[in-house]
Amino acid sequence: MESRGAPVRGGGGRYRDAVTTPTPDTPDLTAALRAHVDDLFPAVQTDLEALVRIPSVSASAFDPAHVAASAEAVADLLRDAGLPEVQVLRSARPDASPGAPAVVARRPAPDGAPTVLLYAHHDVQPPGDPADWTSDPFVPTQRGERLFGRGAADDKAGVMAHVGALRALAALGEDPGVGVTVFVEGEEESGSPSFAQFLADHHELLAADVIVVADSTNWKVGVPALTTSLRGLVDGVVTVEVLDHAVHSGMFGGPVLDANLAMARLLASLHDDVGNVAVTGLTGAGEPEVDYVEEDFRADAGVLDGVRLAGEGTIAGRLWTKPAVAVIGLDATDVAHASNTLAPSAAAKLSVRIPPGVDPRSAEDALRAHLEAHAPFGARVTWTPGEQGKAFGAPADSAAMQAARAAFATAWGTDPVDIGVGGSIPFIADLLEAYPQAAVLVTGVEDPDSRAHGADESVHLGELRKVVLAEALLLRGLARG
Ligand SMILES: [Zn+2]
Repeated sequence: MESRGAPVRGGGGRYRDAVTTPTPDTPDLTAALRAHVDDLFPAVQTDLEALVRIPSVSASAFDPAHVAASAEAVADLLRDAGLPEVQVLRSARPDASPGAPAVVARRPAPDGAPTVLLYAHHDVQPPGDPADWTSDPFVPTQRGERLFGRGAADDKAGVMAHVGALRALAALGEDPGVGVTVFVEGEEESGSPSFAQFLADHHELLAADVIVVADSTNWKVGVPALTTSLRGLVDGVVTVEVLDHAVHSGMFGGPVLDANLAMARLLASLHDDVGNVAVTGLTGAGEPEVDYVEEDFRADAGVLDGVRLAGEGTIAGRLWTKPAVAVIGLDATDVAHASNTLAPSAAAKLSVRIPPGVDPRSAEDALRAHLEAHAPFGARVTWTPGEQGKAFGAPADSAAMQAARAAFATAWGTDPVDIGVGGSIPFIADLLEAYPQAAVLVTGVEDPDSRAHGADESVHLGELRKVVLAEALLLRGLARG
């Protein structure tokens, strides 16, 4: 996994670089903690359900009052969990409008002890078409071991993992021995527009030695994971122009290809015949330690029978350590308005996922150069840049990583695996820029059936219970550092 590189990490922090093996908790203490988690878990579930009932969609078309209400609800939970300083704060977005409310709750570190920042977000994705859901997205509904609802996993379960761990440690009646700062953001699902300003405004308040980002996934039900790599993102719009105005397809068709065809040829050049990304300079890293079984991938993604998978190498590698190019939008003449006309121009929005070790700027340069070099029949190709997000590659064996591995192994009874995630969490790069000494642990409550962002999102309650225990054990482990 080291070969994935670590493009955004900074200088040497104690918890990031040290390689001492933490001493495990005594079996008695672990058993006591496990019993406390079992006792308090029904309340954790009830509080999670209350959060899911608040439709805190941060997208701009939705009522921001719900996001404000969920911030207040989270603040109440953190106050009840015994954190003495709780604030609801906002920072400005780049356009100077106010960002969504974030909650910051703290217990300062005892002298000489580290501070752990526990991150989650309380906003959610839009629900999509309610008809696609088996039950109302904002009415938490348990079926079997899973709790369904928008945000039940992403990321209100992350919020409750932090709250539950703090409650379990409080029930133990001992100070965990670390400073704790809980930071629950309110606009992650909208791209965290005020995040960088928030870090600038509250740099001291959020400073930490270890940052736990509870917004990812475990490997599968029963097998925990640490997310040690995340792909970055580059997007933008490519425009193809071939005529200075639309013309009759009978009178002029033949000697000139319409812009829709030119665009199709340009887009086809982005992959080779077996589906590998064919953009020179957009390279991948080595293969990951674990693989994604093709059958599981096909089922999870809903790949239709007969459709062959694209690219070469392991599926996990194609998802985590290799680039991916998708066409996420297309402006072409729509079928309903089609006439016998050659389209003069067409546009496509491209979304490129880039692996750790590849800088977004150089990835964009490579993409632009490819598009210009492959202009079909000399068509005018224009690239308009969009968003960029850095990839993340964790150092393989920090002290914090070891403490997390030990805690996860105890909570699940099986060792965690290192995984990558094909998606991006761009704010992790912001965190590492602000706190280059900090070790970042990316943990999560999801599993492959969680369907975050989709219809029928859910969390597995048995797994959430283990996540709570693991985080309580982790905080104690970090105290012993
Ligand atoms: Zn999330």
